[in-house]
Amino acid sequence: MPLKIDLHVHTCYSHDCTTSLKEVVLYAKRNGLDGVAITDHNTVEGALKLVKRKPRGLIVIPGIEVSTQQGHLLGLNVKTLIPPNFSIKKTIELIHEDGGIAVIPHPFAFIKEGIRPNKNFKSYGLDAIEVANSSNFPFFIMSYLASRFAENMNLPKTGGSDSHIPDTIGLAYTIIENAKADPETDDIIQAIKEGMIVPVGKAIPWMLRLKKMFKKR
Ligand SMILES: [Zn+2]
Ligand SMILES: [Zn+2]
Repeated sequence: MPLKIDLHVHTCYSHDCTTSLKEVVLYAKRNGLDGVAITDHNTVEGALKLVKRKPRGLIVIPGIEVSTQQGHLLGLNVKTLIPPNFSIKKTIELIHEDGGIAVIPHPFAFIKEGIRPNKNFKSYGLDAIEVANSSNFPFFIMSYLASRFAENMNLPKTGGSDSHIPDTIGLAYTIIENAKADPETDDIIQAIKEGMIVPVGKAIPWMLRLKKMFKKR
């Protein structure tokens, strides 16, 4: 059975977001997702809280978006705080030590502290590239560049909304193919590592971009 999981969602535990954990659950279900990864900026606090709540009918993967020296890096299935400001190589190491996988979100993005990927990253153990990120701008060019890089590196491609407001949760997501019934987080992480996934997504519509901008103030 395929599962739809938004692998990049922020909550009020991020400095630039006010979405409550309750809203994450509500909107994720409303928008037809089977699961979310909570990836707040430099903290796992909200992610661990939501995992503990075990919301009925929603898979919750704990994660983090770490600010490395080169830009943002996602850690999925991460349960302890990965400290910011290390090199990407060191940060990938720390994520792996914690049992997680490392994914570059919004590569090449110039307004979002996107990492400019290079071919050394695979030797550092990078696990995947996020190729569909709804807040990327311009969405199609960024998705194309990310996708081309992932293919050249032979790395799996993920999708996530990078939501900072509830309405956009699920605008991009990752389909986990052939997932078994009631999968554990480890099964999903394994499927991502093996590339048994398909990224799906679209850009945030302009009305919602404006809403997000006004919410920041
Ligand atoms: Zn980011
Ligand atoms: Zn993000």
